Amino acid sequence: MSTSTTTSSTATVSGQPRSSTDRRGILFIISAPSGTGKTTLCKQLTTNLPDLWHSISYTTRQPRLGEEHGREYYFIDEQPFQEMINRNEFVEWARVYGNLYGTPWKSLTEKIDQGIDVLLEIDVQGAMQVRKRFEDSVSIFILPPSMAVLRSRLQTRASDTAEEIQRRLHKVKEEVWSYREYAYIVRNDDINRSIRDLESIFWSERLKTKRLNMTWLENNFILDDEQKS
Ligand code: ADP
Ligand code: 5GP
Repeated sequence: MSTSTTTSSTATVSGQPRSSTDRRGILFIISAPSGTGKTTLCKQLTTNLPDLWHSISYTTRQPRLGEEHGREYYFIDEQPFQEMINRNEFVEWARVYGNLYGTPWKSLTEKIDQGIDVLLEIDVQGAMQVRKRFEDSVSIFILPPSMAVLRSRLQTRASDTAEEIQRRLHKVKEEVWSYREYAYIVRNDDINRSIRDLESIFWSERLKTKRLNMTWLENNFILDDEQKS
C-alpha cells in the first residue's frame, strides 16, 4: 500500500482514479501535553473549516462523562484492540498513560482519497510514526502558556484524579522537547487567537504550490482542446 500524501499526482492510496478537479486530502497532526486545550481547539477547527474531518481513534480507556462511543473515540477492550494490531488495522498505535490508543487506516485513507483533509489528534509517539509513513503530512505542536496555567486547566476540566493530574504534569517535562519535531508551534493562551493561528496554518498548507492540481493547470492553461482528458 502506498502511503505518500503527495497531492499533485492522480494516483491514490487505494489505487482508485480521482476526478480531474479535486486534490488529495492533507493529513494534519496535532499533539499537545494533556490539558493544553487541543480537544477544545480541534472541535472548533472542524466546525469552522470546510472539508476537514477529525479522525476517530480506538482506545482502551474508559469514556469520560459526556463522551460517546463512535464520537470522541471507539471505546474497546484490550483483547479486540490487540486483534486489530495483529490485523494491521492501525496506521500507528501507542500506550499513553496506561491505555492503548490507535489510529485506524481505513477511514483515514478513504477521506484522503476523497480529497478531504484529515485531522489527527494524537500523542508525540504516534505523531512520529505517522510522519514517517506520510512524509507530506503537516505537524503542529500546541503548548500552554506555562506549567501553572496547564495545572489550572487540568484542575478546571475535573476529568482526572489528583494523582492522574500529577502524572500528566510530570510527563510534560519530557514531552515539551518534542517541539523540534513539529513544523508549527501554537501557544494556546487566548483561545480566539489560537484558533486564528491554527486556521492560518490550514489555509496556507492548502494553498501550497506542491499541492496544486496539475490536471486543472494543464486543462486550463497548457493543453490544446484536442489534448484535454
Ligand atoms: P486537551 O485535549 O489538550 O487535554 P482540553 O481541550 O480538554 O485539553 O482542555 C483542558 C481544559 O482547558 C478545558 O477545561 C478547556 O475548556 C480549557 N481550555 C482550553 N483552551 C483554553 C484557553 N485558551 N484558555 C482557557 N482555558 C482553556
Ligand atoms: P485522552 O485520554 O486525554 O483523550 O488522550 C490522551 C492522549 O492520547 C492525548 O495526548 C491524545 O492526543 C492521545 N491520543 C488520542 N488518540 C490517539 C491515537 O490514536 N494514537 C496515539 N498515539 N495517541 C492518541
